[in-house]
Amino acid sequence: MPGIQPTDSGWLKLNTNENPYPPPPPLLKAIHNVAAEQLALYPPPLWDPVREKFARASGVKSEMVLVGNGSDELLSIITRCFVDKGDPLLVTEPTYSLYQVLADIQGAVIKKIKLGDDFSLPEELFEQSAPLTMISNPNPPAGTLYTAEEMARLAKSVDGILVIDEAYVDFARWNCLDLVTQYDNLIILRTLSKSFSLAGLRVGFAIAQKEIIDGMIKVKDSYNVNCLSQVAAAAAVDNRDYFEENIEKICRERKRLSTELEALGWRVFPSDANFILTEPEGIQAREVYEGLLERKILVRFFDRPGLDRYLRITIGTVQQSQQLLTAIGKMMKKV
Ligand code: PMP
Repeated sequence: MPGIQPTDSGWLKLNTNENPYPPPPPLLKAIHNVAAEQLALYPPPLWDPVREKFARASGVKSEMVLVGNGSDELLSIITRCFVDKGDPLLVTEPTYSLYQVLADIQGAVIKKIKLGDDFSLPEELFEQSAPLTMISNPNPPAGTLYTAEEMARLAKSVDGILVIDEAYVDFARWNCLDLVTQYDNLIILRTLSKSFSLAGLRVGFAIAQKEIIDGMIKVKDSYNVNCLSQVAAAAAVDNRDYFEENIEKICRERKRLSTELEALGWRVFPSDANFILTEPEGIQAREVYEGLLERKILVRFFDRPGLDRYLRITIGTVQQSQQLLTAIGKMMKKV
């Protein structure tokens, strides 16, 4: 189940890892400038020119890039391409919940390898083989970042396609893009939903060797990314500096909010993403979640064994953290 998306106003949304900063004026202008005639036409099926722009910015050939309607669509295409009914789909537990949903739709058998208590990768993961493996890096719910060495080792051990879902990687200390030219079974996924403030427009990128991309193109819908999203995505790539500044602000705020929560005695896991996982002290996570909900503040509570001690909080602006901390402070006084 994805996090709540309220339709009324007045909410502080810290539950679905969106970016608190709006896209920049040149990007909005690019959308405004789309002519009416263009809306009447189908969009470029192979995403010209955003494909080239993104490829150039990433230092790969454009034939190694596929653009999707969010990385969720790319995950769906990949599942349809690489697993049949009954095939294993290897993932970690916990991780992004969509992997399970896609396995179920395809009739694949999800194989979950439990992470360590600190969400580290267990040795058992490297002893598996599967036609398809999906690893989120950084991995929700804690934002755990795995090393490029671990990912390279996994690419060698899985004996099938390895997806490294880098949805949150722009907030991280490193990424695994370089591996894509070394391993022909690797697919890297990126999205404009988090670091580029465009969750509403739904744009994601897959980067892999040409043969994989060509296969995925055969499976995708002919016009899978609408024309407004293509124009905005091209403008986003052109305005990378603006987004870099916001990324820095979010990383600074991640550190500040973590320190504030730790000062309350709450445990905070190290995160390389735009969210943190925290274990409240002196009050139940569910109680905090419900108390915040009453105050129109949304954070993520996972109502299942193993995770129900924790809250996942998206990093917002300094003011948003302050609003959150004030609400938590009031709740703590009552217990
Ligand atoms: N991968 C991970 C790990 C995510 O958390 C999310 C966001 N929920 C996605 C992919 C989906 O991103 P997009 O908005 O590009 O579909």
